[in-house]
Amino acid sequence: MSLMSSLFYILFVFFTTSVPTRELLTVIESSGTLTIGCWITCGTLWKVEIKHWKDALEETTRQSQFDRKLELKGLLEDLAAEGLISRQDAQKVYRSGHSKERGDAHPLTIIADRRLNRVSPPHELLTLEALTVWLARKANLPYLRIDPLKIDVTSVTSLVSYAYAARFKILPVDVTEDRVLIATAEPYVREWENELSPILHRNISRVISNPVDINRYLLEFYALTESVKRAVGKAASNRIDGTINLEQLVELGRAGKLDANDRYVVNIVDWLLQYAFDQRASDIHLEPHRENSDVRFRIDGVLHPVYQLPTVIMSAVISRIKVLGRMDLAEKRRPQDGRIKTRAQTGSEVELRLSTMPTVFGEKLVMRIFDPEIVVKSFEELGLSSNELSRWKQMVSQPYGIILVTGPTGSGKTTTLYSTLKQLARPEVNVCTVEDPIEMIEPRFNQMQVQPAIGLDFAGGLRNLLRQDPDIIMVGEIRDIETADMAVQAALTGHLVFSTLHTNDAISAIVRLMDIGVPHYLIRATLLGVVAQRLVRTLCPNCKQPGEIDDDLWQSLVSPWKIAKPKTIFLPGGCLECRETGYLGRMGIYEMLRTTPALRRLIRADTDVMKLREQAMKEGMHPLHISGAQKTCAGLTTIEEVFRVAGTGEDF
Ligand SMILES: [Zn+2]
Repeated sequence: MSLMSSLFYILFVFFTTSVPTRELLTVIESSGTLTIGCWITCGTLWKVEIKHWKDALEETTRQSQFDRKLELKGLLEDLAAEGLISRQDAQKVYRSGHSKERGDAHPLTIIADRRLNRVSPPHELLTLEALTVWLARKANLPYLRIDPLKIDVTSVTSLVSYAYAARFKILPVDVTEDRVLIATAEPYVREWENELSPILHRNISRVISNPVDINRYLLEFYALTESVKRAVGKAASNRIDGTINLEQLVELGRAGKLDANDRYVVNIVDWLLQYAFDQRASDIHLEPHRENSDVRFRIDGVLHPVYQLPTVIMSAVISRIKVLGRMDLAEKRRPQDGRIKTRAQTGSEVELRLSTMPTVFGEKLVMRIFDPEIVVKSFEELGLSSNELSRWKQMVSQPYGIILVTGPTGSGKTTTLYSTLKQLARPEVNVCTVEDPIEMIEPRFNQMQVQPAIGLDFAGGLRNLLRQDPDIIMVGEIRDIETADMAVQAALTGHLVFSTLHTNDAISAIVRLMDIGVPHYLIRATLLGVVAQRLVRTLCPNCKQPGEIDDDLWQSLVSPWKIAKPKTIFLPGGCLECRETGYLGRMGIYEMLRTTPALRRLIRADTDVMKLREQAMKEGMHPLHISGAQKTCAGLTTIEEVFRVAGTGEDF
């Protein structure tokens, strides 16, 4: 400033001595403008400089913030500050958990392991999933629950190497032409994003997912891809003329080069089975096509595509499964059956029933999974109401007679029978079965498999069983008069006999027995009761929503019974747990006919079915719809579901 004033002073002296006053004023005026101009320019430059400096500072802060791994302490502080956990809990978790943090455990898993409940209502458990959702919201990123069935494993694993993905614990979960979706549990580590973006030539979107899921699928997906790649490599090196054809695939298997015991093929099969168990699949389909073959899982009655394998590999995979199922490896032109007993990761034993079918591109293999814990249930889990349960118990506690379970294929008859037999199989009782096929092996039963090839059918098997001093007998199915005769003989000689029939309702079972050729007086003398059943899908407890029912719809379900319409029922929602279907698991609905003396009198050579049904209803038999209506009232299923499996009910 003093420099400026001196300059003015010199100018002033110079002009006052040598320049006329008017001109002097003009000069002062313009020099003033000049000065102001200078000031403005300097200011602007200075401002620009500050801005640059500030930006740089912000960028550094941002970068350091982004490349900061989550820390237990910080997360606990945030959770306490938001009132999700108490300060004391936060301190406790920190004290016990900070040593684990150094051991590479994700801080959220350390917090989730403590199984804390939210301090404020609704006091829900702070699971890893709930904490992940919280983290996503805090980081302002979308949350994703990884559904492995929706991931195209081959294309996502081809994007980034395993080493790189594992280093940053990131998992690509979806890829399109111009975008890659990458799951991470570290929202403030972004180094990889800048590195990957130019390499992948796509935009990168981040989502926050459960760290345990990321680690698990990271390992699984890359291990699977690696096994397939190596197996393909082997197959290619063994190929002679570079073409793939069916005969050559047979050669590959036979030559033992890409054989069923190949390490990579073994890995693929192990993964496949474990994956199916985890996903609660009931069936695994392996379907060869021209070049690529499909793996599909059936879950809650619906098929889901899971994975594609090169057909060469699929052929080796199927061979491996055939080896495990002790099937004839060389036989590929005839259908075969087999069985594998294995253990799921949870430790429970699982039975797999195998069936092959020759198709144009090779053998198709279907594995049906029987988890004994699913096949055998307690009476309550079967879905029996208290009334139905007491009727059922009355029937099965009789010392001798015939009890029939009826319904179409897949209506849960086997589950009802196994569950009942298991409860009856005490050490002092000999339970024998003759089945086709044996769906589950139970050590307490003596089970026999029907083998038509050697002439062992149901009737023959039953005849043989009767010489084995049985108390309780289960015959897989009554199809012919021979079997029916044997069952009647067994019942008359003091045995309790269980079997199944293919009829739609309980009364029809009596008619069917007569049609087969069983005289009415023998039915009268032996039949204890019939249960007709269906499986309804149960509402997903995580997403079902209260709703109202239309009056007419309710009446059409329960009429002519007078059952008050419930105020609220539940309707299907849709969430990740149930794959957006609104339903999770299945449960039985039942029609129970108990042959009382009054009913027996109506079983005659000229039985009037209508009279029989009326009498049964009078004595408390409810048709399937009513059983379904009760489950609808209890919020377990929906009217639509009952109609779907039990028909519209116009017969009643
Ligand atoms: Zn749901």
